[in-house]
Amino acid sequence: MNTWEYAPAPESRDIANLKPSYRMFLDGQFVEGGGEPLKSVNPATEEVLAEVSTAAPSDVDKAVKAARRAQDKVWGRMPGAERAKYIYRIARMIAERARELAVLESLDNGKPIRESRDVDVPTASAHFFYHAGWADKLAYAGLGPDPKPLGVAGQVIPWNFPLLMAAWKIAPALACGNTVVLKPAETTPLTALVLAEIIQQADLPPGVVNILPGAGGVGAELVNHAEVDKVAFTGSTEVGKLIQRSVAGTGKKLTLELGGKAANIVFDDAPLDQAVEGIVNGIFFNQGHVCCAGSRLLVQESVAGELLDKLRVRVATLRVGDPLDKNTDVGAINSREQLTRITDLVSAGEQEGAEKWVSPCPLPDKGFFVAPTVFSGVSQAMRIAREEIFGPVLSVLTFRTPDEAIAKANNTPYGLSAGIWTDKGSRILWMADRLRAGVVWANTFNRFDPTAPFGGYQESGFGREGGRAGLEAYLDV
Ligand code: NAP
Ligand code: MG
Repeated sequence: MNTWEYAPAPESRDIANLKPSYRMFLDGQFVEGGGEPLKSVNPATEEVLAEVSTAAPSDVDKAVKAARRAQDKVWGRMPGAERAKYIYRIARMIAERARELAVLESLDNGKPIRESRDVDVPTASAHFFYHAGWADKLAYAGLGPDPKPLGVAGQVIPWNFPLLMAAWKIAPALACGNTVVLKPAETTPLTALVLAEIIQQADLPPGVVNILPGAGGVGAELVNHAEVDKVAFTGSTEVGKLIQRSVAGTGKKLTLELGGKAANIVFDDAPLDQAVEGIVNGIFFNQGHVCCAGSRLLVQESVAGELLDKLRVRVATLRVGDPLDKNTDVGAINSREQLTRITDLVSAGEQEGAEKWVSPCPLPDKGFFVAPTVFSGVSQAMRIAREEIFGPVLSVLTFRTPDEAIAKANNTPYGLSAGIWTDKGSRILWMADRLRAGVVWANTFNRFDPTAPFGGYQESGFGREGGRAGLEAYLDV
């Protein structure tokens, strides 16, 4: 298919400054946790990258108490303009160490260096910059004349955007005067611990931010701690429901950012070549490990054949492989578990009678990889149309009228995002009004900006992150 070969262009892994072991960050110090250490693995090679200490229940208690003291005595009383200086400092230090963070993220997570370098790390820094600007202007956010912080925030994040999710959680919490205990995902703790180093070097008062690696049990311990005032969770709908049940009636404020099964809708008047780029970005960005991925393509029947032909040609050019190679488009699946989840759902798609097309691209012999896959002839009842695959697998359905597109797009328990491709502005507005999704992109997909609120409906969760709306989740209003 390719008429020429790309020479390898690997980023040097030395830039990551990888250490053999990492400790947790509690009350301003790096300390050994009481839990069983975990080994973080490079999913592209299956090698162990580093050993990471994890929190025991007593460490969670210590961290929450440290956060409480820091909130009561220092951070909650500090003028917003002073808090802003610390948050700006974090933003700048992330930017200064951008290359190191990008390489470390690609090693630990498996995502292509192009994405960690151009999306994850700059957007993480942008979140701190943006929220630093709010810290002394909260009285003008339209949330009351003198909105107060909630107190201690317990935050749990997933593995698909490890540093970026940490930034999404920590930056607004700090800007609003809260202190934080954060648990990164078990398979991707490393960049959060470098962020802890940055936070220490930025001289944040001890206890304002605590980062405790560990498995799901550490997350459960944290969200159930009696002295946590606010719980922020990003992850699966299943765990989100558990947390919602356990937090119910405690008076803790809760935001949940959960799964999705977004419709990316292409009308017959759309510029098809641009739509193909948007579809590719929508589902193959970050190996499809994106809660708002455009995993259901809804295409108008009259252009379905032409669009699918163009799409297969384009997808066949995606290079899958070494995440550190600057030419790589699709990196490694984050874990063996996730790989199994994806291959199980792909088998279900075949068994239920959808037509499977797999990119003929070569795959590395080691590590966890999936070739970009497109299922056509998908019906709404199939598992691949209903369940989140969270991998580089696209399900294609067709429609004839705008009403049918809306009915199919909304036929999901989720409601996080959607995309519309059409030449007509009026149709974009008509569709956006009727789509039950927190974010609707028009003639683009997967665009993120700290000024724009992000969040879902229904089983995709509730609460918003980013923008003015995102501040509300961290203030007593
Ligand atoms: P997950 O199992 O829900 O894990 C998310 C986080 O919760 C991890 O840190 C996990 O720890 C922890 N956890 C597990 N059980 C817990 C419990 N009982 N109490 C508290 N915390 C617990 O999800 P995942 O499989 O890692 O991530 C993929 C899912 O996240 C997808 O469904 C995706 O759609 C969703 N997601 C949503 C958004 C959004 O913004 N809406 C963003 C990214 C991802 P371990 O690491 O040890 O498992
Ligand atoms: Mg890892």
